[in-house]
Amino acid sequence: MLTRTLLLLILSLMAACASTPAASGPTTPPITWAVAIHGGAGTIDRNTPPEQAAAYLASLTRALDEATTRLARGESSLDVCEAVVRLLEDDELFNAGRGAALNEKGQAELDASIMDGATLRCGAVAGVRTVKNPITLARAVMEQTRHVLLISDGAEQFAASIHTPLVDPSYFVTPRRQQMLKKALEKPGARADHPGVTYGTVGCVVLDSKGNLAAATSTGGMTAKKWGRVGDSPILGAGNYADQYAAISGTGTGEEFIRHGVARMIAARVALKNETLAQAADHLVHKTLRPDDGGVIAVDAKGNIAMPFNSEGMYRACADSTGKREVRIWED
Ligand code: ASP
Repeated sequence: MLTRTLLLLILSLMAACASTPAASGPTTPPITWAVAIHGGAGTIDRNTPPEQAAAYLASLTRALDEATTRLARGESSLDVCEAVVRLLEDDELFNAGRGAALNEKGQAELDASIMDGATLRCGAVAGVRTVKNPITLARAVMEQTRHVLLISDGAEQFAASIHTPLVDPSYFVTPRRQQMLKKALEKPGARADHPGVTYGTVGCVVLDSKGNLAAATSTGGMTAKKWGRVGDSPILGAGNYADQYAAISGTGTGEEFIRHGVARMIAARVALKNETLAQAADHLVHKTLRPDDGGVIAVDAKGNIAMPFNSEGMYRACADSTGKREVRIWED
C-alpha cells in the first residue's frame, strides 16, 4: 500500500515538472518580417530648411507604413519591394520616376532593377524615357522574358507590348531638377561623379513572413550624367542584389558600386566569410568605397537590418515585426 502511494506521488511530481516551463530569461520574439527603405544618400545639408526635411521624413514614413501594412498581412517580399518603390517613383521629391535627376541634355533616363532572393530571378531596365514606373517594367522583364536587362528603345517597345503605363518624357522633369542641372553645368570643375547633387535614388529590401528576401532599386542616376550613361542601380550585384542570405540596395556613386560589385560582395561576405550583415555592409561602405560615395540598406535572412553610409546623410527608414521602427536623414 505504502509502495503504491509512493509510486503515485512520484508520478504526479513528474507530471507537474513536465508541465512547468523551464526557468529562463526574457525571450525576444523572433523577427518574422523586416524592411528597410532608402531615398538616396549624399551631401544633405544639416541646415536644410526644416519644412524640406519634414517633407522627406513624411514621404519615407508613408512608404514605411505601406511596407509594414503589406508585410503584416503576409504579402511577398517582391510585392512589397515593388509597391514601395512605385510609391517613391511617383513622389517627385526623390530621384526616381517623376522628379528624376536629369542628364546633360536635360532629359530623364531611368534605371531600375528587382531581384528575388529565393530563386535568384531578376529583372532590370536602363535608359528608359517614357515608362511611368520603371520598377514595374523591371519586374516584367524578370517574369515575362528570358532576359535580365533590357535597355532604352527595346525596353520601351517591350513596355508598350505589355501595356505598362507610358507617359510623355516631360512628365519626369521638375523645375527643381532643372535648377540642379543648371547649377551642375555651371560648375564644370565640380566632382562630376559625386552623389551630392543627385541624392534621391530609391530602394527597398525586404524579408517576408515566408523567409524570402527581395531587393528593388530605381533611379534617374546622376545630375548632368552623359547621355546614355548607365549607373549601378540596374546592374544586379552592384547597386541591387538579393539571395538567400541577404538583400541589398545601394545609393551613391554608381561607378564605384559597379567597380566593387558592392551589393553582391556584401551578400557574399555574409555567406562565405560568416560575417554579420552589419560587419559586411560596414566593410564595403567604410573600407571599400571612398568617403562620400554613399551608402546601402540591407536585410538578412534573420531579419537583421544594416543601413551604413559614408556621406553626410542618407534618407532611410526601417521596421520589423517586433516593433522596431526608424525614419532618419542624418546620423543622429
Ligand atoms: N547610384 C545612382 C547612380 O549612380 C545615383 C544615386 O544613388 O544617387 O546611378
